[in-house]
Amino acid sequence: MTDTAFVKLNAVAKRWNGQLGVEDISLRIEEGAFVALLGPSGCGKSTTLRLLSGLEIPDEGQIHIAGTDVTHSPPAERDLSMVFQSYALFPHLSVAENVIFGLKVRRVPKAERAEKLRRALEITGLLGLEHRKPAELSGGQRQRVALARAIVAGKRLCLMDEPLSNLDAKLRNAVRKDIKKLQRDLGITVVYVTHDQTEAMSMADMVVLMKDGRIQQVGTPQDLYSRPENTFVAEFIGAPPMALIDGAALDGFSSGETIGLRAEHIAIADAGAGRMTCHVAECEFLGSETFIGLTHDGAKGLTLKLPGLVQKAAGEAIDITFNDADLHRFDGDGQRLNTT
Ligand code: ADP
Ligand code: MG
Repeated sequence: MTDTAFVKLNAVAKRWNGQLGVEDISLRIEEGAFVALLGPSGCGKSTTLRLLSGLEIPDEGQIHIAGTDVTHSPPAERDLSMVFQSYALFPHLSVAENVIFGLKVRRVPKAERAEKLRRALEITGLLGLEHRKPAELSGGQRQRVALARAIVAGKRLCLMDEPLSNLDAKLRNAVRKDIKKLQRDLGITVVYVTHDQTEAMSMADMVVLMKDGRIQQVGTPQDLYSRPENTFVAEFIGAPPMALIDGAALDGFSSGETIGLRAEHIAIADAGAGRMTCHVAECEFLGSETFIGLTHDGAKGLTLKLPGLVQKAAGEAIDITFNDADLHRFDGDGQRLNTT
Protein backbone atom coordinates (compact mmCIF):
# COMPACT_ATOMS: atom_id res chain seq x y z
CA MET A 1 0.00 0.00 0.00
CA THR A 2 1.32 3.44 -0.82
CA ASP A 3 1.50 5.99 1.98
CA THR A 4 -0.25 9.09 0.70
CA ALA A 5 0.27 11.38 3.69
CA PHE A 6 1.16 14.95 2.64
CA VAL A 7 3.93 15.38 5.20
CA LYS A 8 5.90 12.46 6.60
CA LEU A 9 8.64 12.31 9.19
CA ASN A 10 10.25 8.93 9.62
CA ALA A 11 12.36 8.27 12.75
CA VAL A 12 13.88 11.75 12.62
CA ALA A 13 16.59 12.65 15.13
CA LYS A 14 18.61 15.83 15.67
CA ARG A 15 21.31 16.18 18.31
CA TRP A 16 23.74 18.92 19.21
CA ASN A 17 27.18 17.64 20.27
CA GLY A 18 25.50 14.43 21.34
CA GLN A 19 22.99 16.46 23.38
CA LEU A 20 19.31 15.77 22.94
CA GLY A 21 17.40 17.85 20.44
CA VAL A 22 14.70 15.51 19.18
CA GLU A 23 14.72 11.73 18.96
CA ASP A 24 12.71 9.20 16.95
CA ILE A 25 10.11 11.62 15.58
CA SER A 26 7.68 9.82 13.25
CA LEU A 27 4.56 11.59 12.02
CA ARG A 28 2.09 11.43 9.16
CA ILE A 29 0.17 14.59 8.34
CA GLU A 30 -2.75 14.57 5.89
CA GLU A 31 -3.18 17.45 3.48
CA GLY A 32 -5.48 20.17 4.86
CA ALA A 33 -4.87 19.20 8.49
CA PHE A 34 -4.17 21.63 11.33
CA VAL A 35 -1.52 19.98 13.49
CA ALA A 36 -0.31 21.39 16.79
CA LEU A 37 3.15 20.53 18.15
CA LEU A 38 2.58 20.96 21.88
CA GLY A 39 4.76 20.62 24.96
CA PRO A 40 6.73 22.45 27.64
CA SER A 41 9.61 24.76 26.80
CA GLY A 42 12.68 22.89 25.53
CA CYS A 43 10.79 19.72 24.53
CA GLY A 44 11.80 20.00 20.85
CA LYS A 45 8.83 21.70 19.17
CA SER A 46 10.84 24.38 17.35
CA THR A 47 13.53 21.86 16.41
CA THR A 48 10.89 19.64 14.80
CA LEU A 49 9.47 22.61 12.90
CA ARG A 50 12.93 23.75 11.79
CA LEU A 51 13.67 20.23 10.55
CA LEU A 52 10.45 20.39 8.52
CA SER A 53 11.38 23.80 7.15
CA GLY A 54 14.95 22.88 6.19
CA LEU A 55 16.53 25.34 8.63
CA GLU A 56 18.00 22.25 10.32
CA ILE A 57 19.05 18.96 8.71
CA PRO A 58 18.40 15.75 10.70
CA ASP A 59 21.17 13.43 11.88
CA GLU A 60 18.88 10.47 11.24
CA GLY A 61 15.59 9.74 9.50
CA GLN A 62 13.75 11.05 6.45
CA ILE A 63 11.32 13.86 5.73
CA HIS A 64 8.86 13.80 2.82
CA ILE A 65 6.66 16.68 1.69
CA ALA A 66 4.08 16.19 -1.08
CA GLY A 67 5.70 12.93 -2.15
CA THR A 68 9.24 14.31 -2.40
CA ASP A 69 12.14 13.37 -0.13
CA VAL A 70 13.24 16.78 1.17
CA THR A 71 15.45 15.50 4.01
CA HIS A 72 18.48 17.34 2.66
CA SER A 73 16.74 20.10 0.65
CA PRO A 74 17.25 23.79 1.50
CA PRO A 75 14.16 25.73 2.73
CA ALA A 76 13.52 27.39 -0.64
CA GLU A 77 13.02 24.00 -2.28
CA ARG A 78 10.39 22.78 0.18
CA ASP A 79 7.51 24.88 -1.12
CA LEU A 80 6.29 26.10 2.27
CA SER A 81 5.72 29.37 4.15
CA MET A 82 6.62 30.23 7.73
CA VAL A 83 5.29 32.53 10.45
CA PHE A 84 7.37 33.12 13.57
CA GLN A 85 6.84 34.58 17.02
CA SER A 86 8.92 37.61 16.10
CA TYR A 87 7.01 39.01 13.17
CA ALA A 88 10.21 39.52 11.18
CA LEU A 89 8.77 42.54 9.31
CA PHE A 90 10.99 45.08 7.56
CA PRO A 91 10.56 48.24 9.67
CA HIS A 92 11.27 50.64 6.79
CA LEU A 93 8.76 49.02 4.43
CA SER A 94 5.00 49.63 4.45
CA VAL A 95 2.44 46.92 5.21
CA ALA A 96 1.87 46.39 1.48
CA GLU A 97 5.59 46.23 0.69
CA ASN A 98 6.17 43.77 3.52
CA VAL A 99 3.37 41.50 2.33
CA ILE A 100 4.47 41.35 -1.32
CA PHE A 101 8.22 41.35 -0.65
CA GLY A 102 8.61 37.68 -1.53
CA LEU A 103 6.52 38.04 -4.69
CA LYS A 104 8.75 40.90 -5.87
CA VAL A 105 11.86 38.83 -5.24
CA ARG A 106 10.31 36.08 -7.34
CA ARG A 107 9.48 38.64 -10.08
CA VAL A 108 5.74 37.98 -9.99
CA PRO A 109 4.06 40.42 -12.47
CA LYS A 110 2.76 43.67 -10.97
CA ALA A 111 -0.96 43.11 -11.70
CA GLU A 112 -0.84 39.66 -10.12
CA ARG A 113 0.99 41.08 -7.09
CA ALA A 114 -1.68 43.76 -6.65
CA GLU A 115 -4.50 41.23 -6.79
CA LYS A 116 -2.81 38.84 -4.34
CA LEU A 117 -2.05 41.73 -1.99
CA ARG A 118 -5.66 42.93 -2.04
CA ARG A 119 -6.98 39.46 -1.27
CA ALA A 120 -4.46 38.80 1.52
CA LEU A 121 -5.23 42.19 3.14
CA GLU A 122 -8.93 41.48 2.85
CA ILE A 123 -8.62 38.04 4.45
CA THR A 124 -6.51 39.37 7.31
CA GLY A 125 -8.62 42.50 7.87
CA LEU A 126 -5.79 44.88 6.99
CA LEU A 127 -7.44 46.78 4.10
CA GLY A 128 -6.89 50.51 4.61
CA LEU A 129 -3.64 49.99 6.53
CA GLU A 130 -1.46 49.14 3.53
CA HIS A 131 0.58 52.36 3.66
CA ARG A 132 1.43 52.18 7.36
CA LYS A 133 4.85 51.19 8.64
CA PRO A 134 5.11 48.32 11.20
CA ALA A 135 5.85 50.85 13.98
CA GLU A 136 2.42 52.40 13.35
CA LEU A 137 0.61 49.11 13.96
CA SER A 138 -0.54 47.26 17.08
CA GLY A 139 0.94 43.87 17.92
CA GLY A 140 -2.12 42.09 16.58
CA GLN A 141 -1.97 44.04 13.31
CA ARG A 142 1.73 43.23 12.90
CA GLN A 143 1.00 39.57 13.42
CA ARG A 144 -1.70 39.85 10.74
CA VAL A 145 0.86 41.33 8.33
CA ALA A 146 3.08 38.31 8.93
CA LEU A 147 0.05 36.09 8.25
CA ALA A 148 -0.83 38.04 5.08
CA ARG A 149 2.74 37.57 3.88
CA ALA A 150 2.45 33.82 4.43
CA ILE A 151 -0.90 33.80 2.58
CA VAL A 152 0.31 35.60 -0.55
CA ALA A 153 3.10 33.06 -0.78
CA GLY A 154 0.27 30.68 -1.76
CA LYS A 155 1.98 27.59 -0.34
CA ARG A 156 0.07 24.44 0.55
CA LEU A 157 2.07 24.01 3.77
CA CYS A 158 2.49 26.72 6.39
CA LEU A 159 4.68 26.34 9.49
CA MET A 160 3.98 28.57 12.50
CA ASP A 161 6.15 28.82 15.61
CA GLU A 162 4.31 30.34 18.60
CA PRO A 163 2.91 33.13 16.40
CA LEU A 164 0.62 34.52 19.11
CA SER A 165 2.86 34.55 22.16
CA ASN A 166 3.59 38.29 21.91
CA LEU A 167 -0.10 39.21 22.00
CA ASP A 168 -2.27 39.86 25.06
CA ALA A 169 -4.85 37.25 26.02
CA LYS A 170 -7.86 38.88 24.36
CA LEU A 171 -6.09 39.50 21.07
CA ARG A 172 -4.60 36.02 21.14
CA ASN A 173 -8.11 34.63 21.27
CA ALA A 174 -9.23 36.73 18.31
CA VAL A 175 -6.22 36.00 16.09
CA ARG A 176 -6.45 32.29 17.03
CA LYS A 177 -9.90 32.21 15.43
CA ASP A 178 -8.63 34.18 12.40
CA ILE A 179 -5.83 31.69 11.80
CA LYS A 180 -8.16 28.73 12.12
CA LYS A 181 -10.68 30.25 9.70
CA LEU A 182 -7.93 31.14 7.24
CA GLN A 183 -6.54 27.65 7.30
CA ARG A 184 -10.00 26.19 6.61
CA ASP A 185 -10.92 28.70 3.91
CA LEU A 186 -7.63 28.28 2.07
CA GLY A 187 -7.50 24.53 2.65
CA ILE A 188 -3.82 24.70 3.58
CA THR A 189 -1.94 22.36 5.88
CA VAL A 190 -0.68 24.07 9.04
CA VAL A 191 1.88 22.81 11.53
CA TYR A 192 1.58 25.05 14.55
CA VAL A 193 3.97 25.13 17.51
CA THR A 194 2.64 26.16 20.92
CA HIS A 195 3.30 25.47 24.61
CA ASP A 196 -0.30 26.44 25.41
CA GLN A 197 -2.55 23.38 25.66
CA THR A 198 -5.73 25.48 25.36
CA GLU A 199 -4.46 26.90 22.08
CA ALA A 200 -3.53 23.47 20.74
CA MET A 201 -6.78 21.85 21.87
CA SER A 202 -8.98 24.60 20.43
CA MET A 203 -7.26 24.94 17.05
CA ALA A 204 -5.86 21.59 16.02
CA ASP A 205 -7.37 18.55 14.30
CA MET A 206 -4.36 16.60 15.52
CA VAL A 207 -2.19 17.30 18.55
CA VAL A 208 1.38 16.03 18.89
CA LEU A 209 2.38 16.25 22.54
CA MET A 210 6.16 16.18 23.16
CA LYS A 211 8.44 15.89 26.16
CA ASP A 212 12.26 15.73 26.32
CA GLY A 213 12.62 15.54 22.54
CA ARG A 214 10.19 12.66 22.13
CA ILE A 215 6.56 12.32 21.10
CA GLN A 216 4.35 11.27 24.01
CA GLN A 217 1.06 10.98 22.16
CA VAL A 218 -0.49 11.87 18.81
CA GLY A 219 -4.24 12.19 18.46
CA THR A 220 -7.29 14.39 18.24
CA PRO A 221 -7.81 16.82 21.14
CA GLN A 222 -10.57 14.47 22.34
CA ASP A 223 -8.18 11.46 22.26
CA LEU A 224 -5.58 13.20 24.39
CA TYR A 225 -8.17 14.46 26.82
CA SER A 226 -10.16 11.30 27.33
CA ARG A 227 -7.55 8.63 26.70
CA PRO A 228 -4.11 9.87 27.80
CA GLU A 229 -1.38 7.31 27.04
CA ASN A 230 0.66 8.20 30.12
CA THR A 231 0.61 10.34 33.26
CA PHE A 232 2.54 13.16 31.54
CA VAL A 233 -0.24 13.56 28.97
CA ALA A 234 -2.87 13.24 31.71
CA GLU A 235 -1.37 16.13 33.65
CA PHE A 236 -0.49 18.32 30.64
CA ILE A 237 -3.90 18.29 28.94
CA GLY A 238 -6.99 19.93 30.40
CA ALA A 239 -7.76 22.79 32.75
CA PRO A 240 -7.75 21.68 35.47
CA PRO A 241 -5.34 18.83 34.65
CA MET A 242 -6.23 15.26 35.52
CA ALA A 243 -5.78 14.42 39.20
CA LEU A 244 -3.39 11.54 39.95
CA ILE A 245 -4.07 9.31 42.93
CA ASP A 246 -1.69 6.74 44.42
CA GLY A 247 -3.35 3.32 44.10
CA ALA A 248 -2.55 2.68 47.77
CA ALA A 249 -4.94 5.47 48.75
CA LEU A 250 -7.94 3.79 47.11
CA ASP A 251 -9.70 0.59 48.09
CA GLY A 252 -9.39 -2.08 45.41
CA PHE A 253 -6.21 -0.69 43.82
CA SER A 254 -2.57 -1.50 44.50
CA SER A 255 0.23 0.84 45.50
CA GLY A 256 2.12 0.12 42.27
CA GLU A 257 -0.39 1.93 40.11
CA THR A 258 -1.56 5.48 39.66
CA ILE A 259 -5.21 6.38 39.18
CA GLY A 260 -6.22 9.36 37.05
CA LEU A 261 -9.47 11.24 37.62
CA ARG A 262 -10.95 14.27 35.85
CA ALA A 263 -12.66 17.02 37.84
CA GLU A 264 -16.00 16.55 36.04
CA HIS A 265 -16.18 12.99 37.38
CA ILE A 266 -15.82 13.91 41.04
CA ALA A 267 -18.93 14.44 43.19
CA ILE A 268 -19.37 15.45 46.82
CA ALA A 269 -20.49 12.61 49.09
CA ASP A 270 -22.17 12.72 52.49
CA ALA A 271 -19.67 12.91 55.34
CA GLY A 272 -18.22 9.46 55.97
CA ALA A 273 -19.85 8.01 52.85
CA GLY A 274 -17.26 9.00 50.22
CA ARG A 275 -14.33 7.10 48.72
CA MET A 276 -11.78 9.68 49.88
CA THR A 277 -11.79 12.36 52.55
CA CYS A 278 -10.04 15.50 51.30
CA HIS A 279 -9.51 19.03 52.56
CA VAL A 280 -10.12 22.34 50.84
CA ALA A 281 -6.93 24.09 49.72
CA GLU A 282 -8.38 27.04 47.81
CA CYS A 283 -11.43 28.19 45.83
CA GLU A 284 -11.04 29.70 42.38
CA PHE A 285 -14.15 31.54 41.12
CA LEU A 286 -14.34 31.61 37.31
CA GLY A 287 -17.76 33.21 36.80
CA SER A 288 -19.92 30.34 35.64
CA GLU A 289 -18.26 27.87 38.00
CA THR A 290 -15.88 27.52 40.92
CA PHE A 291 -12.84 25.22 41.04
CA ILE A 292 -12.15 23.94 44.52
CA GLY A 293 -8.62 22.63 44.95
CA LEU A 294 -8.49 19.66 47.33
CA THR A 295 -5.61 18.13 49.23
CA HIS A 296 -5.15 14.48 50.13
CA ASP A 297 -1.95 12.73 51.21
CA GLY A 298 -2.15 10.11 48.46
CA ALA A 299 -3.18 12.40 45.57
CA LYS A 300 -2.25 15.50 43.63
CA GLY A 301 -4.33 17.83 41.50
CA LEU A 302 -7.74 16.88 42.91
CA THR A 303 -10.21 19.57 41.90
CA LEU A 304 -13.93 19.83 42.42
CA LYS A 305 -15.90 21.78 39.80
CA LEU A 306 -19.12 23.30 41.07
CA PRO A 307 -21.53 25.60 39.22
CA GLY A 308 -21.70 29.28 40.15
CA LEU A 309 -20.00 30.92 43.11
CA VAL A 310 -19.06 28.56 45.92
CA GLN A 311 -17.14 29.63 49.00
CA LYS A 312 -15.55 27.09 51.28
CA ALA A 313 -13.12 27.62 54.11
CA ALA A 314 -9.56 26.40 53.65
CA GLY A 315 -9.04 23.18 55.58
CA GLU A 316 -12.72 22.17 55.51
CA ALA A 317 -13.12 18.38 55.12
CA ILE A 318 -14.97 17.15 52.02
CA ASP A 319 -15.78 13.55 51.18
CA ILE A 320 -15.69 12.81 47.47
CA THR A 321 -16.93 9.96 45.35
CA PHE A 322 -16.60 8.82 41.73
CA ASN A 323 -17.33 5.84 39.47
CA ASP A 324 -14.76 3.20 38.60
CA ALA A 325 -15.77 3.55 34.95
CA ASP A 326 -14.36 7.09 34.93
CA LEU A 327 -10.96 6.13 36.34
CA HIS A 328 -7.78 6.03 34.26
CA ARG A 329 -5.23 3.45 35.40
CA PHE A 330 -1.49 3.81 34.88
CA ASP A 331 1.28 1.34 35.76
CA GLY A 332 4.37 2.03 37.86
CA ASP A 333 6.05 3.67 34.85
CA GLY A 334 3.06 5.90 34.26
CA GLN A 335 1.87 4.03 31.15
CA ARG A 336 -1.84 3.60 30.52
CA LEU A 337 -3.36 0.29 31.59
CA ASN A 338 -7.00 0.81 30.52
CA THR A 339 -7.62 -0.69 27.13
CA THR A 340 -10.53 1.67 26.43
P1 ADP B 1 10.97 24.13 22.22
O1 ADP B 1 10.74 24.84 20.92
O2 ADP B 1 10.04 23.00 22.46
O3 ADP B 1 10.99 25.05 23.40
P2 ADP B 1 13.58 23.53 21.09
O4 ADP B 1 13.22 22.69 19.92
O5 ADP B 1 13.92 24.95 20.82
O6 ADP B 1 12.42 23.44 22.19
O7 ADP B 1 14.81 22.86 21.85
C1 ADP B 1 14.88 21.47 22.13
C2 ADP B 1 16.22 21.16 22.76
O8 ADP B 1 17.25 21.33 21.82
C3 ADP B 1 16.54 22.05 23.94
O9 ADP B 1 17.20 21.28 24.90
C4 ADP B 1 17.46 23.08 23.34
O10 ADP B 1 18.35 23.59 24.29
C5 ADP B 1 18.19 22.28 22.27
N1 ADP B 1 18.61 23.13 21.14
C6 ADP B 1 17.77 23.74 20.26
N2 ADP B 1 18.47 24.42 19.32
C7 ADP B 1 19.79 24.26 19.63
C8 ADP B 1 21.03 24.70 19.03
N3 ADP B 1 21.05 25.45 17.94
N4 ADP B 1 22.18 24.31 19.64
C9 ADP B 1 22.18 23.51 20.74
N5 ADP B 1 21.06 23.07 21.33
C10 ADP B 1 19.87 23.41 20.80
MG1 MG C 1 10.38 26.90 20.56
